[in-house]
Amino acid sequence: MDTTQSKISLKKSWQLHQRGMKLWYQREPKLIIYLFLESLLIVAMPYVLIYFSAKILNELGNQRRVEELVKWIVWTLVVESVLGILKEVVRYQKMKYQGMSSLLNSEFYVDKMLTMDYQKFATSHIHDLRTQIKESENWTGVGLLRVLKITEEIFQSILGILGGVLLTFSLFTSVVTTTSDELIWLNHPLLVAILFILSILGTMLPPFFMNKSGEYWIRLASESRDGNRFGMFFSYYMNQSDRGLDVRMYEQDKITEQYILEHNVYQDRNSLFAQYSRGGIGIFRSLAAISSVIFSGFVYLYVCLKAWGGAFGVGSVTQYIGAILSLANHVSKFVEAIGSTQTNAEFLQVNFELLDQPNELYQGTLTTEKRSDRNYSIEFCNVSFKYPDSDTFVLKNISLKFEIGKRIAIVGENGSGKTTFIKLLCRLYDPTEGEIRLNGIDIRKYNYTDYLNLFSVVFQDFKLLSLTIGENVAANREYEEEKVKLALDESGFSERLDHSPEGLKSYLYKDFNPAGIEISGGEAQKIAIARALYKDAPFMILDEPTASLDPIAEEEIYQKFNQIVSDKTAVYISHRLSSCRFCDEILVFDKGEIIQRGHHNELVNQSKEKYSELWTAQAQYYQ
Ligand code: ADP
Repeated sequence: MDTTQSKISLKKSWQLHQRGMKLWYQREPKLIIYLFLESLLIVAMPYVLIYFSAKILNELGNQRRVEELVKWIVWTLVVESVLGILKEVVRYQKMKYQGMSSLLNSEFYVDKMLTMDYQKFATSHIHDLRTQIKESENWTGVGLLRVLKITEEIFQSILGILGGVLLTFSLFTSVVTTTSDELIWLNHPLLVAILFILSILGTMLPPFFMNKSGEYWIRLASESRDGNRFGMFFSYYMNQSDRGLDVRMYEQDKITEQYILEHNVYQDRNSLFAQYSRGGIGIFRSLAAISSVIFSGFVYLYVCLKAWGGAFGVGSVTQYIGAILSLANHVSKFVEAIGSTQTNAEFLQVNFELLDQPNELYQGTLTTEKRSDRNYSIEFCNVSFKYPDSDTFVLKNISLKFEIGKRIAIVGENGSGKTTFIKLLCRLYDPTEGEIRLNGIDIRKYNYTDYLNLFSVVFQDFKLLSLTIGENVAANREYEEEKVKLALDESGFSERLDHSPEGLKSYLYKDFNPAGIEISGGEAQKIAIARALYKDAPFMILDEPTASLDPIAEEEIYQKFNQIVSDKTAVYISHRLSSCRFCDEILVFDKGEIIQRGHHNELVNQSKEKYSELWTAQAQYYQ
């Protein structure tokens, strides 16, 4: 966050908070309702007590009628008890919903990230926004979470001000009796006006100074961002079991500690935090405390003088002092809350920038027909593409049509654009130029989820969940066991499954279950292939499907490849050209272009071309 930019106006801050409150209300209305009810009771109880105590003390100080005293005592007990019980009931309900607020808060972002266009999701800008939000939340809980607290503070302070005004009003209207001549000036209307202005000043100054000191905290938040980022990243990194070996082997803790300390703003007496504490933070906080004490002294003096002059009884002294101090406290809180809206608005802007990202990929409405004949034809028409953060075309002028039910292999050197081509096919990105058509219609016109459902993909960097094997394959808690077993059998995992203690119900890894099983990269790849088979989509895409498999397992997969793919259209990227021999067509990628295409036998004989070059290079190792 750039602290040099001008502060967000109060109006804009308030609008952002209103939007935040609305968002919370839409997600969980009960949270806001209970927040309001609790605020009402929290504020009402002390005022009710002040009011009744004044009645009792006035009676004691004046006529001392027993029945009046008993009446007020009973009223105090009954009303306070009822309010107290109500407050606890409401508090319990509020806590129940507030306990979920962190979870609900993450849901705002998880929902957004999941529905966001992948091409946007993968940009550094979005990554940076998400990181900033997380860091700010971890640092002091600012952002959308803070909206809840500010809402609560604003509710309470407004109610508190109303209550305070109600109980103090008669202080200004009650007059000093004419018998006490030396204090008669207290009745002068000008004095009442001056007092009123002084009271406003007295209540406004402490929060004003507190907000000034708060500005230094914000500066600190922005200046400690790098330190937080290093801290967060490395504390996460150190706890990951698969990083454990590297950490120990290369003593990575030492270098990380240096980075964290170098960027730490709290470390010693010369740190930024210490400087701010000696400067702005400390000075403004002291001024806030001093102005608050002076104001209290002044209230005591004025109320006591009026009581001395006979304007009211001793009971009312407690009422006015209690009510004014409470009123001042609520005014302070109100001003502070308004100040924090301005501070928090800077963070909220970032929150909303992320939440407001339009989801362009989701604009299509056509449904893809469910065809039992899997008659889906996809065609690339002059497609060129560059990644959103980059200026270079990584795919250039690609035109091709996928024949239904055919097996297509894609080969080419690293970085030639193979994976990018698959990403476009699955519409993780839209082409920069040209279009991709499904049954003759631009794929952008189709419902995105429907379109994605046409593909079963095993990406190179697939990820499995630390859940059971069955749940991983089915991507669902409910699944058909037989179908899952069949998929695992086809991908070559069945032998390992037989050795897993609880079969399909065995957990992978130990994140959620200490008895979870650790599997090798090859075994994980088999599960990922089974997951794609279970989905049973008309297009089967495998990106380096056998990269982590040993030669025997790889051979097994290829033996079964026709059976696995059955009537689906299959596209697979492979580095091992020997596995492409069985394909109907091979596409050779080079620097983002398809430079050769055809069957293995044709291509291998074009001796001066890329395919034959790659083939010859690999053949040496197989001989
Ligand atoms: P291959 O699968 O053939 O190894 P890729 O399709 O992964 O090649 O990459 C093609 C080119 O695109 C490479 O130069 C790579 O650096 C670049 N590239 C890949 N992913 C991104 C990305 N997210 N942003 C920018 N450039 C990328």
